[in-house]
Amino acid sequence: MPGSTLISKRARALRPSLTLAISARAKTLSQEGQDICSLSAGEPDFDTPAFIVEATVKALHDGITRYGPAAGDPELREAIASKLRELNKIDARPENVLVTNGGKQAIYNLFQVILNPGDEVLIPSPYWLSYPEITLLAGAKPISLSSSPDNGFSLDPEQLEASINSKTRLLILNSPGNPTGRVMTEEEMKLIAGILRRHPRLLVMSDEIYEFLIADNEVHHSFAAVAPDLADRIFTVNGFAKGWAMTGWRLGYLAGNQEVIKAASALQSHSTSNVCSFAQRGALAALTGSRDCVVAMTKRYNARRELLTNGLNKIKGMSLVPPKGAFYAFPELPKKSPDSIEFCKLALEEVGLAVVPGAVFGRDKCIRVSCAVSSKIISDGLQRLNEFASRY
Ligand code: PLP
Repeated sequence: MPGSTLISKRARALRPSLTLAISARAKTLSQEGQDICSLSAGEPDFDTPAFIVEATVKALHDGITRYGPAAGDPELREAIASKLRELNKIDARPENVLVTNGGKQAIYNLFQVILNPGDEVLIPSPYWLSYPEITLLAGAKPISLSSSPDNGFSLDPEQLEASINSKTRLLILNSPGNPTGRVMTEEEMKLIAGILRRHPRLLVMSDEIYEFLIADNEVHHSFAAVAPDLADRIFTVNGFAKGWAMTGWRLGYLAGNQEVIKAASALQSHSTSNVCSFAQRGALAALTGSRDCVVAMTKRYNARRELLTNGLNKIKGMSLVPPKGAFYAFPELPKKSPDSIEFCKLALEEVGLAVVPGAVFGRDKCIRVSCAVSSKIISDGLQRLNEFASRY
């Protein structure tokens, strides 16, 4: 068993991505000339706004090509802190901010510095697939809190409180959520804050990476703003990937308790060091420039989300909790259909449709359908899904 001697226990605990097999197969089929329609995208299809690119090119010409402080450029930390204060109503200073290689590294660094082996992490399900894996990498134990489409995938406060024991260290919140597109209300957050007040050892990570991608009549609330008295226990994760269409730039941030930020910065200084210096200038331009580009993209996603929602609602046998944010819908498969992995494999082979199995998000019997593609592709995908789902 070469794997057991070569690979560390830590790495062996990681589960290979189930989605990779489907996307690799979709690519092969497409290269073979088959007509494939993909509603599996997890990133914006828009280009990064030109003024951000221009600021970055200028930074390169200006020689911003050297190492910088591990925690991020002071101007960018200041701009992030001021955005958190003004927009999110979180009382952040630059010392509370760490600039990271994407939201993902913010989560990774946070978990590495606050979790000990044996700690339990509460993860409301359906969840973004990296949460359990990053938890395992920190030696902690992911505990899934199930929810039902019957109550809109909301987190049950009683179930949450009943799941807390002496080992429970962290609760993950993600609103707007991937994969459901769910947006948490302020009331729900207040209920959760009440539970936290009864459990002083419990910390919270609030992943707000989709904050700008939200339906017109919805409001994004930052958990740290809803419970300012708990600020020292709440860590906000965010980034530039989704709102500004900057996935490949790898720019994110972690905000919270200064002691934890210092520890996460020390960890970063020995792993990746500073985030790409000239890319940080692009992030600074994004934050300090006009938000019109974000508003324009949000408008397009909102129209596409509606198109997707209306189309899914018309498919017989499938049911949907209407998404209110992000760029996904998470419908339930018809009762007689196979599990989500098999359903997705067959949909690809038989009608050339690529969608993501719900199993990877902790809920089989659902699929994740993306609207981060053109309306034409969404309509085409809906037709294929309708045809395929009608078999069950
Ligand atoms: N959090 C959620 C819920 C996501 O869906 C993603 C990316 O898909 C991330 C965090 C990480 O984003 P980034 O590209 O900034 O690392």
